[in-house]
Amino acid sequence: MLWTLIKILVFIAVIVGLEYAVTIIAGSGENLTVIFGGYEVTLGPLQAVVAAIALFVAVWIVLRLVGLLIALLRFIAGDKTAFTRWFYRYREKRGNELMTEGMLALASGDSKLALRKALKADGKLADNSAAILLEAQAAEQMGDRTQAIECYKKLLSNDKTRFVAIRGLMRQKQAEGDEATARKLAENALQLKPDNSETADQLFLMQTHEKDWSGARATLGLKRKYKSAPKDLAKRRDGLLALCQSWDLRREGKLEDARKAALDAARELPNFAPAVVEGAKAQMEMGSGAKAAQLIRTAWASEPHPSLAAAYAAIDPAETPEKRVKRFGDLVRKDPSHPEARMLMAELNIAAENFPEARRALGDLVETAPTARVMTLMAAVERGEGGSDTAVKAWLAKAVTAPRGNAWVCEVEGAVYAEWQPVCDVCGSFDTLSWKPAPASEVMPEVSAGMLPLIVGALEDKAAGPGPEEAETVEGAAEESTEKA
Ligand SMILES: [Zn+2]
Repeated sequence: MLWTLIKILVFIAVIVGLEYAVTIIAGSGENLTVIFGGYEVTLGPLQAVVAAIALFVAVWIVLRLVGLLIALLRFIAGDKTAFTRWFYRYREKRGNELMTEGMLALASGDSKLALRKALKADGKLADNSAAILLEAQAAEQMGDRTQAIECYKKLLSNDKTRFVAIRGLMRQKQAEGDEATARKLAENALQLKPDNSETADQLFLMQTHEKDWSGARATLGLKRKYKSAPKDLAKRRDGLLALCQSWDLRREGKLEDARKAALDAARELPNFAPAVVEGAKAQMEMGSGAKAAQLIRTAWASEPHPSLAAAYAAIDPAETPEKRVKRFGDLVRKDPSHPEARMLMAELNIAAENFPEARRALGDLVETAPTARVMTLMAAVERGEGGSDTAVKAWLAKAVTAPRGNAWVCEVEGAVYAEWQPVCDVCGSFDTLSWKPAPASEVMPEVSAGMLPLIVGALEDKAAGPGPEEAETVEGAAEESTEKA
């Protein structure tokens, strides 16, 4: 209402102003002389004003004609919407404004407003693909998957928007939990843009979830080719994938391929125990115990791990316990004071029934690294040296409440695993497990079983099966300690 009133007042003011100007110009009596190409034209004051306006209009028409000519050239060059855009350029301008407003709304989280602006812009723009994309993104932000899918499907036919459309559809399928379709879409998207690092990462994650190790290796290969992954990380991941491939191939009975993959893994990850164990196994099967031993020694020198010791033992399964103690001396030579080395030598000496040497090997681990495994070893030493039942029981009771020692722990949420695995069951991440002390609260029967002394089992067999008895003792001791608490 007020706006209309202002408009009327402005209109009246302009008319009055013009009339006043005309009166002044007509009354001034001054003439304008123009010399143009030898002609001299003298214009009266009012005529001069009319001529100026005519010149203005002429320039405007010329500019429009130039615009039309440019549109025509663009059309010839293949831009199909060039003409429509030229004819409807004011609508286009409004459409573009609406797009800007819509994008701002989307960026500020107001998806409803963004959707409204996108729908309005859609009707105004000759090339409406950006508007449809905005509509799709707004629908996606609102959680309206059906509408988002509908919009993305519209964008599939356009070469310019095909890639974003496929990626959009992939996200919707992922949100629906349809991993198989999402994965196919990611593969399609990556075919269009093989250097797109984010899509490669997403596909890689899906492939590792589905345990498609060779597919994941191929995706990783693309990332390596386009240098979109740090070199070391790519190498590590390739090694891990080769290890997983080798496990699968072995299960399928394709032993030769399994060995090849295992050797790849050990070559790329010479310090990673699970890969080295598999590589050593392959070398053993190919008849080269010396190469297997060398692989294990290198890995142990970098980071001792019980599975390496087990693999080292498997190189000569028939040797006497005394010979084994001697042979393992080579393995632990670099750092004999490492807790893992000490526990290992204690186990081997217990097996060789050299209990004083086993006690010496353990040293002060009872104070410095008091884990369940150390306590169990102390119980075995105590028993071997003819200690009283009470003393043995005391060590086993300590074993029950002692820290569990090292395990494979997920860096994301702390899930604990006895054996290394590529993908965490809890968070679904790839390569997040590291070998470190397990959280105290974790109950891990399988982990402690995995850590039971390497050779003590053999000793128990010799002593006419005290296994179950020992289990009872442990339970009894556990009950005692809980009662005390
Ligand atoms: Zn995890």
